[in-house]
Amino acid sequence: MPIKELLGATDFFLEPMVLVSRDGIIETPNQSFAEQLELPVESLPGRRLDTLAAASASAVQEYLRACTESVRAVEGSLLLRRRAETVALQARGIAYPPNSAPTASHVLLQLVSQKQGPFSSSTRSRSARNAENWYEIEQSLRRQSQILEVTLASIGDAVLVTDAHGHVTFTNSVACGLTEWPLEQAKGRPLTEVFPIINEHTRKPVENPVSKVLQTGTIVGLANHTLLISRSGREIPIDDSAAPIRLPDGTLFGVVLVFRDITEQRRAEHARAWLAAVVESSYDAIVSKTLNGQITSWNPGATRLFGYAPEEIIGKSITTIIPTELHSEEADVLARLRRGERVDHFETVRVAKDGRRVEISLTVSPIRNEQGEIIGASKIAREITERKRAERMLLEADRRKDEFLATLAHELRHPLAPIYNSAQLLCRIEHDRPELKNACEILQRQLQQLTRLVDDLADVSRIRAGRIDLQTEPIDLGRLLHSLELSMRPLFEASGQQLTLHVDPVYVHGDSSRLFQVFSNVLHNAHKYTPAGGQICVTFERAGAEVIIRIRDTGIGIPTDMLDEVFDPMVQVNRAGLGPRGGLGLGLTVARRLIELHGGRIEAHSDGEGKGSEFLIFLAAS
Ligand code: ADP
Repeated sequence: MPIKELLGATDFFLEPMVLVSRDGIIETPNQSFAEQLELPVESLPGRRLDTLAAASASAVQEYLRACTESVRAVEGSLLLRRRAETVALQARGIAYPPNSAPTASHVLLQLVSQKQGPFSSSTRSRSARNAENWYEIEQSLRRQSQILEVTLASIGDAVLVTDAHGHVTFTNSVACGLTEWPLEQAKGRPLTEVFPIINEHTRKPVENPVSKVLQTGTIVGLANHTLLISRSGREIPIDDSAAPIRLPDGTLFGVVLVFRDITEQRRAEHARAWLAAVVESSYDAIVSKTLNGQITSWNPGATRLFGYAPEEIIGKSITTIIPTELHSEEADVLARLRRGERVDHFETVRVAKDGRRVEISLTVSPIRNEQGEIIGASKIAREITERKRAERMLLEADRRKDEFLATLAHELRHPLAPIYNSAQLLCRIEHDRPELKNACEILQRQLQQLTRLVDDLADVSRIRAGRIDLQTEPIDLGRLLHSLELSMRPLFEASGQQLTLHVDPVYVHGDSSRLFQVFSNVLHNAHKYTPAGGQICVTFERAGAEVIIRIRDTGIGIPTDMLDEVFDPMVQVNRAGLGPRGGLGLGLTVARRLIELHGGRIEAHSDGEGKGSEFLIFLAAS
């Protein structure tokens, strides 16, 4: 029941009691209070309390102020006038409404007779009952206010309460955290100080929701894009609402403001908007569908690629754009999605609205809901028709080049054999003129070189076409290398290079003429890329089931970043000041492929330019 009605009830508070506003105006006296002063009860409302007092007005005012600011009942003495006499009364004043200190709007005063002696015996027993009543009311009010405080404190949103003048009376811990104002310091301050808010875009202060409530008396929501400036200057996006708090008699007692930090929500909104913009502006087609293959979204990229407008295709089956012969492919994709798998860069074909076939690279990922359940799929399709066409053209050009090289090698070989035979014949004739002898030697050397080049060319073509057959047998590598050394020794000697060979009999299973070709290519390189007077050394060792042949030279070396590349076709190291030394950059390509066909491998090592090179050939021992 509202306090005013309780005071009005003649038999509830038997002690003299009065409800006074904080500036000292009597609002509701009870019957007993009027009796104390021997005045009619109806003459009292609206009068100032200090006009009834013998003490100075400021002393009364001071006492009332103390009561409004205290969370407990304040004891005091009041000297009141009763007709011609002055009565000293003991008073207990409590801030009203409960828990509104230090800015309570009213004080509830209870008077206890002091100097005028005890009340009559009947009054005394009534007074004992009154004290009990009063105590119970106080306890109950305190309990209610505690429950209220605990409730507000445990609310996840920030709660801030002001009095009817817009001064803060309560903040819960969330509000303290956001505003960075502890409750003790916030209490009593104007709301604008504790809760300054600005518009995110204009940076101008936003009208405080509390003042709006105070003006309109209705619930008010904050405009969008409001930033709260915390005490340390942190800017927090918030949304809130403010509602009036009314006393049972309808008087506006204060305002409760509930607000929350929406940084996360804002971030999520931005991310969503950003994603939506990415999807909208993507050149790729981005489409989503349910697990049954029903299209649920269709971006402008999809319209551009497949010709359907969103309204024509959303809700239809994805098979609308899948060629009939590939429908089973879609079933596989859906099955993989249900298992939570992604399909990455899957190259396939789709049919556009005008029947055109579009070659696409497709990435399909499952879409999960908040519980992690797969509810659909997103597809990103990129048109690769052009790329596919270019790939096909490249492959065709490559095939033609291989064909041309094979024909070229074949055609060059034809005249080489008779030229070689004729040169042999010429050289066998005893020449009396030394320049003729010399010319014969040059002819033989250059013919050998030419034959090797043509052989390499023919081999590369064969290797690329997969047309090399090995005639394998057990071979003594030691003997093979010795006969190679014999045939090449004049070449090394002519350049003043020293060739040493440390090999014992060791057997591998292989094609002797092909292995001869490999070692010959590597040794020719060692000769070509080692200056006159340098050394070339061939050794071998057994390591477990392998034989490792090392061919080391003291030549110009290979830059470390080229060590792998020298095995690629037509790769020659670009060296400043050193022109090409003959060759097509095919020797090592052929060597590697032949060694691989033998189940082995070849590696190049060098500490860099000018530091010599070493080639390691690994073959399985037999
Ligand atoms: P080429 O016919 O050019 O010799 P290769 O395929 O036999 O072709 O060798 C490729 C490249 O590797 C050569 O052009 C050369 O730059 C480099 N190279 C090969 N062997 C050696 C070596 N022993 N010393 C330095 N560089 C070498």
